[in-house]
Amino acid sequence: MSLTSPSILNTFDHRPTHAEVDLGILKGNLNSIRAFVSPSKVMAVVKANGYGHGLERTALCLQEAGVDSLGVAYIEEAIALRQSGITIPILVFGGLLQDQLELYVKHDIDVTASSVSKLGQIEATAERLKRRARVHLKIDTGLERIGVHYYSADKLYDAALRARHSDVVGVYSHFADVNLGDLKIAEVQLERFLEALRYYEERANGPFLRHIASSSGLMAIKASHLDMVRPGLSLYGVYPGPGYSSIVSVKPALTLKSHVVYFKVVKQGAGVSYGHTWFAPEDTRLVTVPIGYGDGYLRALSNKASVIIRGKKSPIVGVVCMDQLMVNLGPNGVGYNGDEVILIGESDGERVSVEELAGLIGTTPHEILVSLNQRIPRVYRG
Ligand SMILES: *Cc1c(COP(=O)(O)O)cnc(C)c1O
Repeated sequence: MSLTSPSILNTFDHRPTHAEVDLGILKGNLNSIRAFVSPSKVMAVVKANGYGHGLERTALCLQEAGVDSLGVAYIEEAIALRQSGITIPILVFGGLLQDQLELYVKHDIDVTASSVSKLGQIEATAERLKRRARVHLKIDTGLERIGVHYYSADKLYDAALRARHSDVVGVYSHFADVNLGDLKIAEVQLERFLEALRYYEERANGPFLRHIASSSGLMAIKASHLDMVRPGLSLYGVYPGPGYSSIVSVKPALTLKSHVVYFKVVKQGAGVSYGHTWFAPEDTRLVTVPIGYGDGYLRALSNKASVIIRGKKSPIVGVVCMDQLMVNLGPNGVGYNGDEVILIGESDGERVSVEELAGLIGTTPHEILVSLNQRIPRVYRG
């Protein structure tokens, strides 16, 4: 049997570690957000493998639930979606290189025009292929990532008004900082955006969608909903920070599970895992769980995060290895080979949230989710 044969790959189905994705919850989250922003449209952001939930399955579920459009970061993600049966509009947020443009036009992918010269390239490609390009103009209101500056947007608008082979279907921007405690930066950006839109609103010869808000923006500033919002994180049931849960109610769609593969008693003073960063303070019971940073369970969580075993939260001790980690059940803890281990999720009233893991290591909840890689099989419910 060759190493690449599907039957070998299928053995991953028997891994004791997997991520369960509840598509019913995903749809419920979409509906909650839709109700909150109505009548604004919703573009569901599914970049980075659907925030770890699986690109195609997540997108197909959201399309079936009637989402208006999808957003991704790269053209490859958009093409994969078209090839898996996505027919609704897909916008690629990222910057583009000229030689990618044919792909956009051929696969009917909405392209971000972030400068006059990029729009010129889009026009030339559409003309050569005798097809129409769908374009969203990108205005930079303070992130300094891509897009024409808000104070010189008119040049891009004038080029768009002259375009003969492109349909401008949207104009958008992106917040640099949404902080519930101090919304000043976001509010200034929104003001800049609305101001910069005026020139085009007065001249455009057809309707177009104005959009700026991702999860945090749409929850924090109602006035940012405009014609469409672009939630990613919140669709998956994860909040961008503390204080958001009282605004829109969403539930985590992903549960990360594994199973105990080894049980042992270690003696007081024993050093555990690489580098002996943790020593048993007393005789205690440890279990070993087959997941590690090679799966995207971040090494930074070493000696910080907890998992749920038999309805009890127990800490990870020692460093997270590439493929395994150790958990301290305590001197009288109970655990056996085969026991279920919840690394993200809820069980018996205990909970380990993505937000909590992010907080432990000073990162965003986004990074916790998108780090979970292809080595972890996804199992779908609902
Ligand atoms: C990633 C991204 C989003 C979604 O952000 P969340 O914080 O996950 O809601 C929206 N818009 C753009 C341009 C993005 O890059």
